[in-house]
Amino acid sequence: MDCKRYLVVGAGFSGAVIARKLAEQGCKVVVVDKRNHIAGNCHTERENKTNVMVHKYGPHIFNTNNKRVWDYVNTFGSFMSYKNKVIADTEKGVFSMPMNLLTINQFFYTKLTPNTVEAYLKTKQLKIQNPQNFEEQALAFLGEDLYYNFFYGYTKKQWGCEPKELPSSILKRLPIRFNYDDNYYNSKYQGIPEKGYTGIISNILDHENIEVRLDTEYSSTENSNYEHVFYTGAIDAYHNYKYGRLGYRTVFFKEEIHNGDYQGNAVINYCDQDVEHTRVHEHKHFAPWEKHDKTIVITEYSKETTKEDEPYYPKRLEQDIKMFEDYKLYTNGLKENVSFVGRLATYRYLDMDKVIEEAISYVEYFINNKKTNRPFGGDLFSNLD
Ligand code: FAD
Ligand code: UDP
Repeated sequence: MDCKRYLVVGAGFSGAVIARKLAEQGCKVVVVDKRNHIAGNCHTERENKTNVMVHKYGPHIFNTNNKRVWDYVNTFGSFMSYKNKVIADTEKGVFSMPMNLLTINQFFYTKLTPNTVEAYLKTKQLKIQNPQNFEEQALAFLGEDLYYNFFYGYTKKQWGCEPKELPSSILKRLPIRFNYDDNYYNSKYQGIPEKGYTGIISNILDHENIEVRLDTEYSSTENSNYEHVFYTGAIDAYHNYKYGRLGYRTVFFKEEIHNGDYQGNAVINYCDQDVEHTRVHEHKHFAPWEKHDKTIVITEYSKETTKEDEPYYPKRLEQDIKMFEDYKLYTNGLKENVSFVGRLATYRYLDMDKVIEEAISYVEYFINNKKTNRPFGGDLFSNLD
């Protein structure tokens, strides 16, 4: 393609993948990020006192069924096999998460098997035809005892609203198994980069045609200086909150340093709504191939996002979806030389593998068609609404 200068806003996975593909076509690419580091919310760095690799914006486990995405990230650094196994601390005791046969048997003091567990759960399930939200989905599938012990309190703390206001898709992110498999994910490929996510993204951005500018806030007045702009920041921020602020939850962390092994597992979820925090992470357990005498323990709290906070989890309540629709319509009408890619720009909860898959699809479409009149990817992206 006839290459000119491109601007990519955001140095997370979305921005890095787009910049790399354009650079490999011979195009000059400037990547700006307002933060003082690359890698967006996947940023990792070693903590000084313990030398433990910390996932600064919360733990990230790479998991995918997409071989193309897995091969892609593996060309930029080595991944160590890692299976996430979570412990749930609840009012009724400590259990295995995601919910599996061990969780159910220990919770109900039963000795159910893969052949008998479904019939047993049927006796607990509430008869709800066509569940419409998180709560109804959970009650219809698990019944009241499991729902209130494991999901109600945690979800209320995590999302700051009643679970019946949330879509059932949030619950469906978690597997529920009728065997003793306690792996948090079902994906075929699972791992954590040996040198952290920032190492991988640094290698993606390491190309002679890419210039990275950190501590640099984007302004749309720059659009005319570039052939095209790929924007991976928040869509409402791009439009100066013209229709209001989209709903997000944010999280904040408190750190402590201890000796030895503090909690015996990487993640413990706190499901009781009277416990203020949602999870405790002990980051050295995310890198079992490393040895550390000291340990950094990070307690995670969830709260509503204010102007000063980083948006983390899109809430996607009814009013948010409507507002996003207004932003989308307005953006489509502008016909600017800007594309909106990634989790913030398209206001969706997207895992890293999905973000990479979409960034590759979008930039390949752009390169093959020499431009795009689809600022939101059109049918390239799933579930945009
Ligand atoms: P981001 O990583 O958010 O990058 C966007 C970048 O744009 C940021 O660096 C930001 O500073 C920059 N930016 C925004 N606006 C501007 C502006 N105006 N000017 C300049 N720069 C700007 N996914 C998984 O697959 N596995 C997990 O285990 C997992 N755990 C997660 C845990 C938490 C707590 C959260 C919140 C997410 C998790 N995710 C996980 C999802 C993962 O974080 C995202 O898929 C990924 O970060 C999205 O990449 P992105 O590039 O689209 O966005
Ligand atoms: N969840 C819960 N209890 C748990 C774990 C998860 O209620 O112990 C609910 C909660 O609403 C959460 C959702 O299930 O947002 C999806 O869980 P996941 O672990 O995927 O959340 P994330 O890692 O995205 O925070």
